[in-house]
Amino acid sequence: MSFNFEFSEEQRMLEDSVYKWSTTWLEPQMEHAYEVDEMPANLFIELGNLGVNGVAFEEKYGGVGLGYVETLLVYENIGRVSNALAMTVGASQTLCFDNFRRNASEAQKMVYLPKACSGEYIGCLGITEPNSGSDAMSMSTKAIKKGDKYIINGSKIFITNAPVADFMLFYAKTEPEKGPHGISTFYFNPKTQKGCFCEKIKKWGMRTSPTGLVTFDDMELPEGNLVGQLNKGVAILTSGLCTERITLSGCSLGSQRSCLELSLKYAKERVQFGKPIIAFQSIQEKLANMYTGYLSSKWMAYSAASYCDSLMTKSGGKGTDLDRMAAAALLYCGEMGTKIAADAIQIHGGYGYCTEYPVSRHYLDQKLWDIGAGTSEIRRMIIARELMRDDFQSAR
Ligand SMILES: Cc1cc2nc3c(=O)[nH]c(=O)nc-3n(C[C@H](O)[C@H](O)[C@H](O)COP(=O)(O)OP(=O)(O)OC[C@H]3O[C@@H](n4cnc5c(N)ncnc54)[C@H](O)[C@@H]3O)c2cc1C
Repeated sequence: MSFNFEFSEEQRMLEDSVYKWSTTWLEPQMEHAYEVDEMPANLFIELGNLGVNGVAFEEKYGGVGLGYVETLLVYENIGRVSNALAMTVGASQTLCFDNFRRNASEAQKMVYLPKACSGEYIGCLGITEPNSGSDAMSMSTKAIKKGDKYIINGSKIFITNAPVADFMLFYAKTEPEKGPHGISTFYFNPKTQKGCFCEKIKKWGMRTSPTGLVTFDDMELPEGNLVGQLNKGVAILTSGLCTERITLSGCSLGSQRSCLELSLKYAKERVQFGKPIIAFQSIQEKLANMYTGYLSSKWMAYSAASYCDSLMTKSGGKGTDLDRMAAAALLYCGEMGTKIAADAIQIHGGYGYCTEYPVSRHYLDQKLWDIGAGTSEIRRMIIARELMRDDFQSAR
């Protein structure tokens, strides 16, 4: 009996083509783009031409018809050059458009998903609010029905891609008195919508990935902009967070791999005390730990993605093994990623502290993965909750 941890030929080809694009198109722009904090123009059009904007989307929408393993593989191979832009791509294609694909009507999907796949439309997802972060269900953005319209008031903060988005999926309370059972999902175009304002947020990490504060001031949406059923937003939100945590683990994985590769190369080239620094045991120890950490992170993330692909529903949410696996994958990738990036800086010495060296970007970006998509503390709470549910009977 075999237990296969190898990628298929098709997956290897996908990996090679995305990494080649990342090194030839993205890498030469990154130092400057990071300094000015601008997303490279045409990023999504480029990815559309490469055919990787809708990896898990059905071909009728312009997608590739593959799964979450391949989506993770794409994000990892963008993340090897830019953790931040892998996040931006994931925020658009997985958090926003994949969530929309899984929950919108066929008519809604036929209008927007082909534009998501071509790269014409960039998406964003709004959950977090200034006063509702980890406690997302306490959100106070309201959508109140008036005739055949919803009037939206409130705000969403830290929204990846909001300053450049053509499509925003977000959650709001349609029946606030029902708490989490009164949350619904909506979409609109932030570039053309009246009553919606976006401010770009300045960050010290994940630069190039635009982040915004979005304010809704009596924003009117037609009732046709509701996604899924009224007051059923929580299931959409929690199952979306599962695939988000699994696939965005790829951003951290890409950075981890790059930190190891760059450190290995640097340690062989840098000579001190008459020897390449790789000859010193304390440097070797760091490299060995980085390798072990990367491989452990990798198999946690890919096994969660593979399990997700094997499910009929391909979805998780509260009360599922996938919820536990997804939280554990990103928890591990996030915490290991910050450690690996710190070791990479240490191996590079003073040069690692300079923006000219890509390890500096990986170091700054990695910290986000202890925070975004639910903090490490919240992921541990989810894991513990799901362990108490089944006493770990499934051994997953
Ligand atoms: C660069 C970036 C991009 C982001 N992109 C998006 C996006 O696209 N869409 C979106 O909706 N959101 C996005 N976020 C928001 C992100 O998901 C939140 O920042 C995160 O969920 C934490 O919320 P908070 O920042 O309000 O922290 P808080 O919830 O205020 O937490 C502060 C601290 O308290 C801890 N804490 C809170 N509750 C508990 C508890 N019960 N037990 C123990 N500890 C607890 C937290 O773990 C944390 O350490 C992004 C954030 C950043 C920084």
